[in-house]
Amino acid sequence: MTKSYFAEAAMLPAGWARDVLFEVGPDGLIARATPRAAAGDAERLRGPVIPGMPNLHSHAFQRAMAGLTEKGGPQGDSFWSWRKLMYGFLENLTPDDVEVIATQLYIEMLRAGYTTAAEFHYLHHDPKGQPYANLAEVGERIAAAARHSGMALTLLPVFYAHGNFGGVEPTPGQRRFINSLDGFGRILESLAKTVQADPSQRIGVAPHSLRAVTPEELKAVVAAMERIDARAPIHIHAAEQQKEVDDCLSWSGTRPVAWLLDQMQLDARWCVVHATHMDANETKGLARSGAVAGLCPTTEGDLGDGFFNAASYLRASGKIGIGGDSHAAVDPFLELRLFEYGQRLKLERRNVLALAIGDSLGGQLYRGTCAGGAQALGQNIGQLAEGFRADWVVLNGDDPALAEQSGDGLLDAAIFGPVRAPVRDVMVAGQWQVRDGVHAQGEASLKRYRAVMKRLLN
Ligand SMILES: [Zn+2]
Repeated sequence: MTKSYFAEAAMLPAGWARDVLFEVGPDGLIARATPRAAAGDAERLRGPVIPGMPNLHSHAFQRAMAGLTEKGGPQGDSFWSWRKLMYGFLENLTPDDVEVIATQLYIEMLRAGYTTAAEFHYLHHDPKGQPYANLAEVGERIAAAARHSGMALTLLPVFYAHGNFGGVEPTPGQRRFINSLDGFGRILESLAKTVQADPSQRIGVAPHSLRAVTPEELKAVVAAMERIDARAPIHIHAAEQQKEVDDCLSWSGTRPVAWLLDQMQLDARWCVVHATHMDANETKGLARSGAVAGLCPTTEGDLGDGFFNAASYLRASGKIGIGGDSHAAVDPFLELRLFEYGQRLKLERRNVLALAIGDSLGGQLYRGTCAGGAQALGQNIGQLAEGFRADWVVLNGDDPALAEQSGDGLLDAAIFGPVRAPVRDVMVAGQWQVRDGVHAQGEASLKRYRAVMKRLLN
C-alpha cells in the first residue's frame, strides 16, 4: 500500500521546498515528492526533513573499543600501537559478540541520522585463525544485525593476505583476517547470496590496503567481484598514515594513491578510504577519477592521521563522503564539523570548504557527503526524489539551537551549533526506525551489549 507523508519543509534535489507531499510505495521507494501540495490525510512529519546520511566506512566491532585506548605510551601513542591493542581486543570476540555489538552500533547510528552503512568486514575466522564451519559466518551475523536494527547495508567483505607491502607474511595478530584468493572467493559468493534477499542490502568488495594485498591479488579480487556484479562498489584503505606512504615509496617508488591511479584505473565504483596523504598530483588525479574519498574525521583525529587536502580536492570537483570507521563518534553532524574544523586549524581561515561566496557551508557539506556516500555504497539513496529509497531524517525543530532556522540555516546550525539531539525521527525504506529519538529495540540491545562488554572488560 502506498503511504503519504507531509512535510512543511523538506530538502529536495532542487533545494528546500515548502509543503511537500511524499508518496512512498510498498517497495519502500519514494513514488512521488510534490512541493506546494495539500496535506490531506497524509501523516504529518514533525520537523524539517533531510535525506538520511550514508556512513561509508564502518568496522562495527571497533565500536566496543571506543575509549579503551586513551592512555599514554612511552614515546607517545600512535596509530600502530593502537592497532596492536585492537588486535588484542578482537582475540576474544565470538560471532555472537560481533552481532550484538553491530546491532547496538547500528541502532546508535540510526538514532544519529545515518540510514545506510558500508561495513568493511575483515574479521572472518575464529580466534585461532581457523575458518568457521560456515566460512561466511561473521559476515552473515553483520547482515543479520543490520536487518534486525533496520539499518540498510552495503557489505564489503575484505580480502587481507599480508603484513606489509611486497607480500610480507602476516603477523599472528592478523590471523583472523587472512584468506587465500580461493577461500575469499567463496566468502564473497556466499555473502552476495545472503544480501540478495534484502532490497536494502547489497554486496561490494574491499581489498584491505596496498599493505595487505599484492598487485596480483588486488586485480584478482576486483575480477572476482566483477564476475558477480560488474558495478559493485570497491573500497580500499590508502594513505592514512605517513609511514604507509614511506613504506609504499620504498616498495614501489610511488605514493599509494598515485599507485592506485596508475595501476587500477580508479572510477566511480571506487572509494579510497582516508586518502589523507596526497601530493598535488594525487589530489587532482583522485578528483578527476570519479572515485569517492572516504573521510573519517573523528577516527582520523583519534589516530593522529593528518589532514586531507580538502580545499584543492573540492576545487577540482572531487567527491567526498563520511564514515564512522572506528566509531570514536557516532554522529554525522559531528563528523562534518570536525572535517571543516581540521581545515580551519590547519589553514588558519574560516569557512574553508565553502566553494562560493555566500553559500551555506552546512548545506554544501551535507549534500556533498550524501551524494558521495550514496555513490560509494552503490545504492539509490541520498536524495528525497522519485525512485530513491525513502530514507529520511526528521530534524528536531524544538532544539533551541535550531530555533527559527530554516533552509540550509538548519544544517549550518545542526553541524556548527550547540545541538545535542538534532534528530527526532528516522525512516529507512519507508519504515520508521526511530521515533522521538527512540529505537524500538534500543533497550533490549543495550542489555545484550552490556553483557558482552562486561565479559570483554573483565
Ligand atoms: Zn578502516
